[in-house]
Amino acid sequence: MPAKILDGREIALKLGEHIQKEVVHLKQRFGQPLCLASLFIGENPATKLYITAQQKVASQMGIEFQLCHFPKNVTQKEILKLVDQLNKAPEVTGMILHFPLPEQIRRSEILRRVSPLKDVDGLTPENAGQVLLGHVRIGSCTAQAVMELIHATKINLRGKEAVIVGHSELVGKPVGLMLLEQLATVTTCHIATDERGILADHVRRAEILVVAVGKPGLIKGEWIRPGAVVIDVGISRVDGKVVGDVEYEKGEQRAGFITPVPGGVGPLTVMMLMRNVVKAYKFQRVKEA
Ligand code: NAD
Repeated sequence: MPAKILDGREIALKLGEHIQKEVVHLKQRFGQPLCLASLFIGENPATKLYITAQQKVASQMGIEFQLCHFPKNVTQKEILKLVDQLNKAPEVTGMILHFPLPEQIRRSEILRRVSPLKDVDGLTPENAGQVLLGHVRIGSCTAQAVMELIHATKINLRGKEAVIVGHSELVGKPVGLMLLEQLATVTTCHIATDERGILADHVRRAEILVVAVGKPGLIKGEWIRPGAVVIDVGISRVDGKVVGDVEYEKGEQRAGFITPVPGGVGPLTVMMLMRNVVKAYKFQRVKEA
């Protein structure tokens, strides 16, 4: 039997209704708008798509949007100056910095400078550290989207074999910690796992498989364990089409649940960003969320 499709758009829509109402309520209560600042350096087409989606969904949610776009040769000093301004600006609720960054920009110094109360991407040391402590305050949008999709299957994660492919700070690492918190047995694979030729061995064991690499077709359909939950985070463009990391047609025949690309993790990631903006707004005012 083919897999059940985990429709990220549908889940995002439901969550969006809730967020919209909360935004109306917060604006009435505090008399101030919510505003997301999006920092974009250079011309990456994938980032442009993400920003267009942010702008659209923010407007649907009643959240203001401010794009801060810089040319590729911007300096570290200029970015830090902007971060300082945004940290201080009372009208700005939160900021997100887009990757990849040009060579001259040092990511960790910038992330250390962003106020954790305005870090709606969950990447400052404070917010990332909270995930390690098992308490997500403002967590990575993509990792939270992955967890929402897994929860939508209603599968009890306790003791399940979870395999993550990809160990980035944005996706693989926080997803691993969040799954561990649910008492899944977590294995994280990465480039060196593949170099050793044992990626397939790990993937074959996965009852929960999360793939976040960005290499189309990396995960072969025949590696998928029958009945597995497959969350494909990867986004690549092949012959003008957006595809994930998993061989979808073959994978769909074996998995129990699978996310499509596009229409799986992506739309939910944008909605998680909006949810983080709402959380940040509340943290800044009532210190609870
Ligand atoms: P990254 O480049 O920071 O990390 C890639 C990871 O893949 C690394 O851990 C690396 O070791 C691993 N890797 C590389 N080659 C591998 C191989 N052959 N076998 C096993 N592992 C390998 O990437 P990221 O920021 O985590 O993003 C990963 C993918 O997810 C990209 O395609 C990105 O566009 C996509 N993404 C999607 C969303 C979304 O909302 N859908 C959000 C963020 C990222």
